Amino acid sequence: MGIAEVRKKPVAIILFGSPGSGKGTQAKYLVEWLHIPQISTGDMLREHIRSEDAIGKAIVERMRAGSLVSDELVNQLVFERIHQPDCERGFILDGYPRTPAQAEEMIRLLAAVEAREVVIHLVVDYNIIISRITGRRVCPKCGTLYNAISRPPKTAGVCDLDGTKLVVRDDDREEVVRERLAQYERQTQPLIEFFRATSDRMIEVDASDAAPEVVFGSIQVGLKQALRDLVPQ
Ligand code: ADP
Repeated sequence: MGIAEVRKKPVAIILFGSPGSGKGTQAKYLVEWLHIPQISTGDMLREHIRSEDAIGKAIVERMRAGSLVSDELVNQLVFERIHQPDCERGFILDGYPRTPAQAEEMIRLLAAVEAREVVIHLVVDYNIIISRITGRRVCPKCGTLYNAISRPPKTAGVCDLDGTKLVVRDDDREEVVRERLAQYERQTQPLIEFFRATSDRMIEVDASDAAPEVVFGSIQVGLKQALRDLVPQ
């Protein structure tokens, strides 16, 4: 193989933060900026539920209750997804890993594709999270997210892009939100220590600001430093 054909190692950006910390929104900005795909385990799982296939039927109750689905399933979904051709230059992990077993598996998966990883930790206050999630609305047709406070639609209750009536995501109801946050504190938050120990690139970003562009600005600064050769400077 000639030197020009030597493949660059893919970059794996791990977006880490509690439900409502803005991972999905920041992932979309990163996709536009870096032209690498977003891998949202939540979106993939919801897609299975929508298509009512065997996986969807097996997980629908757990998802509705705000519980995590099995590590085996999400590990398998992520394994398959990162081997798709559009992930060759890199990818953004949004909502994965969420448990110690997933984090261990992720290390193996990333090593197998020789990915260079960088963890972005979005740090947000608990009360801000509750108000954000309960104000959240989604377009059932195109998936665009809105928020009563930080990102209202131009016309109340309808999607800017296709005029569809906005809905509350099933697991954004308040009692379910509290359960999801409890799960996060129990199972996911401790992974920060794991990342501090295993990852030499970790960016902590204050994501309490209501303006997502401001948060993205901080992410860009961090990534430009962490990935000098890869990221547009
Ligand atoms: P949020 O980050 O706001 O909780 P997600 O869309 O990431 O929303 O996740 C929604 C739900 O999907 C979770 O409550 C859980 O049931 C399931 N889920 C998503 N990712 C994972 C994962 N990595 N492991 C287990 N369950 C997951």
